[in-house]
Amino acid sequence: MFKQNISLSLHSNYKIGGKAKYFFEPKNEEELVTAISHIRKLKTDLFVLGGGTNVLFSDADFPGAVVKIQNSKFQILDSNLMIGAGVSMAELLNVVAEKGLSGLEWAGGLPGTLGGAVRGNAGAFGGEIKDAIEYVKSFNAKTGKFMTRVNKECRFCYRDSIFKNAAKDEIIWEIGLRLKPGNKKEIQSAIEDKIKYRLERHPMDYPNVGSIFKNVDVEIVPKTLREKFKAKIKIDPIPVLPTAILLAEAGLKGVSRGGAMISPKHPNFIVNTLNASSKDVKILIYLVKYTIKEKFGIKLEEEIMIV
Ligand SMILES: Cc1cc2nc3c(=O)[nH]c(=O)nc-3n(C[C@H](O)[C@H](O)[C@H](O)COP(=O)(O)OP(=O)(O)OC[C@H]3O[C@@H](n4cnc5c(N)ncnc54)[C@H](O)[C@@H]3O)c2cc1C
Repeated sequence: MFKQNISLSLHSNYKIGGKAKYFFEPKNEEELVTAISHIRKLKTDLFVLGGGTNVLFSDADFPGAVVKIQNSKFQILDSNLMIGAGVSMAELLNVVAEKGLSGLEWAGGLPGTLGGAVRGNAGAFGGEIKDAIEYVKSFNAKTGKFMTRVNKECRFCYRDSIFKNAAKDEIIWEIGLRLKPGNKKEIQSAIEDKIKYRLERHPMDYPNVGSIFKNVDVEIVPKTLREKFKAKIKIDPIPVLPTAILLAEAGLKGVSRGGAMISPKHPNFIVNTLNASSKDVKILIYLVKYTIKEKFGIKLEEEIMIV
């Protein structure tokens, strides 16, 4: 029912990480409940994993249990969907496009699972996953109980939800989505546009975990910088100055450490160019935060999860 000493680099988009002592992959509720009760008996730490597209694992081995969510439930009733948290966004988008269901076009090219997207309220191109959510069913690893929250109980806000805060012991298990009937061709082409945009701008030739830092709320950007980069401010969905602009302005493009590099193509990505260690990436994260604070007085906040 579980594997042992599994290399986390194989389960991370970064291709970085030591070994997990225990590794579970529950596919249904029964397997999830059994896995969690086993982990509680082992009295060991638990880390929940989706697609590994937003996580930086440590170089050291993880002495606890990693639970990789494999709930692949896929049920569609008209415009209402009941989807397992382990379903990849790519698969979800393929199906909704095929069925002519609109509302997730912004997520074209968004990697990872639906569960991961819900926890961080993933968003792009002005859209956010919260806009399509009806309910979230989760499993509390401490109490051993399932519960269901409607959208507004999930306290979604910019790259945030209750599952990152008050409900951080909960494993997102199933998501109810409500989409709208739309034109199949238009939906498909909107998704393809987003994928094309990402391929042109993101450094996809190297392992990465997307943007390292959250974009910066314009309210905290010094007035001179705000004026200088007025044209770069975007709505995401609040007005933000892209962090990549600050990093480029600070001359950080292409700075490297060991096998990790601040991407010259998109400086908010730190890419693994050659067998980077977790330490290499962490040193660059520290360097960026220090430089941006010194130069602009802005405290950057990580978007990725560092384990
Ligand atoms: C090339 C690239 C582009 C990206 N572009 C964007 C973008 O435009 N917008 C954006 O918001 N993000 C973006 N990301 C980041 C990432 O893809 C998203 O945050 C994604 O939603 C993470 O999903 P995941 O399944 O990979 O989560 P993981 O990386 O596996 O996990 C991320 C966090 O969520 C937790 N988690 C995962 N699944 C569950 C669950 N079922 N229950 C509870 N907790 C869970 C994990 O414990 C971890 O803390 C990008 C990443 C890459 C590599």
